[in-house]
Amino acid sequence: MIKENLIFFDTEFSSLNPNVGEILSAGFIKDTGEELYFEIDYSGPTNEWVKENILPTLKQEKISKELAVKKIQEFIGDSKPILVAFVNQFDVVYLHKLFGENDIPYGWPPIDLATLMVVKGLDVDKYYENQKEYIKKLGIKGEFIQHNALDDARLVKEVYYKIT
Ligand SMILES: [Mg+2]
Repeated sequence: MIKENLIFFDTEFSSLNPNVGEILSAGFIKDTGEELYFEIDYSGPTNEWVKENILPTLKQEKISKELAVKKIQEFIGDSKPILVAFVNQFDVVYLHKLFGENDIPYGWPPIDLATLMVVKGLDVDKYYENQKEYIKKLGIKGEFIQHNALDDARLVKEVYYKIT
């Protein structure tokens, strides 16, 4: 399994409808441990769950989409890393939407942690529903705030290395 030139990431986004969903916050962590986190200025519609569970947790100064793209480009550089995310279809699509007409600095094929977990015989639903218990069983130490994009990204990294 690939261990290097990976970028683990997670986003919180406005909707599960890929036609309207956009990134509200994003966390990236390299296999070297270097991290990036930002929150994006967004005033469009959000679904009820996001209103209740995500918006109150976003407390940083918000940046524009253009600046977010710049920050990701700078962070990633030119090594064309492979993205890893949990249930990556949303995060990756919304990341592509953020980049728009800009060239993407990461490789096209991403790795889905959820698929890897299924292949390893792990129960993804249980992981999602009771993360604290689940990661303890996997032998992962530390506190991770669920639905904080940076903590979620950190956990993606921990789980990825644990199961591969
Ligand atoms: Mg998340």
